[in-house]
Amino acid sequence: MPDIVIDGHKVSPGQDIQINALIARLPTRTPINIPVFVSRSTKPGPTLLVMAGVHGDETNGIEILRRIIINNYHKPTKGTVIAIPVFNVYGFINHSRGLPDGRDLNRSFPGSKNGSLASRVAHFMTSEILPQVDFGIDFHTGGASHNNFPQIRGVFNTVKEMEVAKAFGAPFIIESPFREKSLRKTADKANKTILVYEGGETLRLRKKVIDTGVDGMLRVMKYLGMRDDAPEIEQKSIYLKTSTWVRAKYAGLHHADVRNGSRVEKNEVLGLITDPYGQFEKKIKSPVNGFVIGINNYPVVNMGDAILHIGSE
Ligand SMILES: [Zn+2]
Repeated sequence: MPDIVIDGHKVSPGQDIQINALIARLPTRTPINIPVFVSRSTKPGPTLLVMAGVHGDETNGIEILRRIIINNYHKPTKGTVIAIPVFNVYGFINHSRGLPDGRDLNRSFPGSKNGSLASRVAHFMTSEILPQVDFGIDFHTGGASHNNFPQIRGVFNTVKEMEVAKAFGAPFIIESPFREKSLRKTADKANKTILVYEGGETLRLRKKVIDTGVDGMLRVMKYLGMRDDAPEIEQKSIYLKTSTWVRAKYAGLHHADVRNGSRVEKNEVLGLITDPYGQFEKKIKSPVNGFVIGINNYPVVNMGDAILHIGSE
């Protein structure tokens, strides 16, 4: 088996090392390193990337990676695991989604060596990590007060991709088209599959979301032959082909009256939008049959704000 080289560090079969990749410096000259944990078995097998914190405020994903490392789940019996708990270090420090240049890292791929800060961080992934990888799971958390019910997102243009998603065993598998300049799209161009796990909301840790993420990673490792055991799937994933946002028709206070993850019928009342004075009250109805896969928990809404995400079979 050949050595893996990341940021100039050689990792041989049987080695288990932490690489602190120097990405940039703060204006104080303090170095900004991205810790990359590489664990290789002596036995050949696939290379699995598990990563979080592409959006720096998406803490559930970061905790999933911490739990994986503290329990040594990133040490495979076959193959290699590359684990990156906090990819966007800047965002993590600043409690923010993006980088100090105002860019969203997941809209900055493939990136460039001498581009903006986000572009440079993306380039590190594209040039140093992706070429080593067979499969990846990118752990996210709902953005800006959106609470996502645990779900795997992908395009599923190969059978294996769907099989890996099913093996993960999240409550939902959601068809999610590629976005321009995203990590998933760049990976696809290089014939690598990255699935996205979404669960919970930014800046909050949710145990159920974290447990589902950790168990899912173990099941994917077992499916890929990288470990012998994994927790049983509690319930088979429900595959949702499309998803749609319910947007606020009125400005006011949103009162959700539906549980995240629950099945809803077309025209079912999902909640209310009211004014703050007791003079205005309008029902929100589901536009489709489906399942609630995300709820915006911020109660003050403007016209057109996305308030509920509904996926349909
Ligand atoms: Zn995200």
